[in-house]
Amino acid sequence: MAKDEKKYVKVRCCHCEGAGCIYCDKTGEVEVSPPACLCPHCEGVGCIYCGFTGWAGLKGKYDDEE
Ligand SMILES: [Zn+2]
Ligand SMILES: [Zn+2]
Repeated sequence: MAKDEKKYVKVRCCHCEGAGCIYCDKTGEVEVSPPACLCPHCEGVGCIYCGFTGWAGLKGKYDDEE
């Protein structure tokens, strides 16, 4: 079940634009599966599908690979 060996890329959280918010755990950035692409549902604005970060393929969430 451990899938931590998968590579992720860090991208700037669209919600706070790097300032840090609850959605990015106050880091200002989030990890997503490469290639990093904006959430197709909101195009980076933030919605429930992307956890309000604006990015698709968030680490640990909505992991639909395999
Ligand atoms: Zn943020
Ligand atoms: Zn979204």
